[in-house]
Amino acid sequence: MLARVSLIDRYAARLPVTARTPRLTLGEGSTPLVRSPRLEAETGVREVWLKVEGMNPTGSFKDRGMVVAVAKALEEGASSVLCASTGNTAASAAAYAARAGVRCAVILPAGNVALGKLIQAMVFGARVVAVRGSFDDALALARRLADEGEGTLVNSVNPYRIEGQKTAAFEVCEDLGDAPDALFIPVGNAGNITAYWRGFVEAASWGLAGRRPRLYGFQAEGAAPIVRGEPVPEPRTVATAIRIGNPASWAAAVAARDASGGAIEAVTDDEILDAYGYLARCEGVFCEPASAAAVAGLRRRAKDGGLAGIERAVCVLTGSGLKDPDTATRSASPPIEVDAELDAVRRAIRGGA
Ligand SMILES: *Cc1c(COP(=O)(O)O)cnc(C)c1O
Repeated sequence: MLARVSLIDRYAARLPVTARTPRLTLGEGSTPLVRSPRLEAETGVREVWLKVEGMNPTGSFKDRGMVVAVAKALEEGASSVLCASTGNTAASAAAYAARAGVRCAVILPAGNVALGKLIQAMVFGARVVAVRGSFDDALALARRLADEGEGTLVNSVNPYRIEGQKTAAFEVCEDLGDAPDALFIPVGNAGNITAYWRGFVEAASWGLAGRRPRLYGFQAEGAAPIVRGEPVPEPRTVATAIRIGNPASWAAAVAARDASGGAIEAVTDDEILDAYGYLARCEGVFCEPASAAAVAGLRRRAKDGGLAGIERAVCVLTGSGLKDPDTATRSASPPIEVDAELDAVRRAIRGGA
């Protein structure tokens, strides 16, 4: 097996990098595309594939864009980076900043960040600021501070983030030999759906793919501004990574939806948690709740007859389930504690009374 090539080197010709751009890497990209026979049986779609982005260095797809954004910031002489985050952007920014030797500050909505993500930002040595407000408040503050010279903003409004993230679409086309018929993806700040569309359009234009997929994006019902057509002042959902009321890439996501002939829809928290448990128990794939929104959406459309003409589908599992131990603990059975005694352990293993 070859060592993983860094994302910047692998796609240098397709990215806005030059010979002077530092070859920053933590081994991001080249994530597995895993087939899901259970979802195929349930949905009737001939091929269902899971793009397991939780296998990135900090456990989410954010690393694809962050490596390019931080490398470009270094190239331009920056000595600090700054972001607002629901958690994964912070974890990724903190890791790449540590690697690059630049300072990092992250602004989080207090009390609304999954534990694993918060811990990552802390251990990587970022300055972690929790504001009493929403993610949208945090992003507005980060933008102001970046404008005033506090550091380079590495949120997905930084154009290099979307550029790096589009490489996931290239990998899907390379692994399948073409673009799929449809891509299912969670939508929060809407950068990733924008990035996939750009990647698929570019892949088709240079011949890596013979077609473009339809894009189906999914928001959580309590945080579905694009579906409702207006910002949601107090977004609510168990899926913290998509708890966003006013997406930065709103217009680009709508354009991607329409150009691809797809849709952006809402799924309930119950549907999200159901898909989350199902993927872990039935396929051995542990993603975070926000990621499961893509699979919840696929299952919903299967029930409603909304998958006509789709023979090959890809669901983007955006982040690792280990990020959010609280949701995991609430949704699975706890250990059975018994005395260190043969019969007691045997009874516990076999279950029942
Ligand atoms: C950031 C994130 C999302 C949402 O992606 P956007 O680009 O904000 O739409 C979904 N899932 C996970 C795990 C994330 O970290």
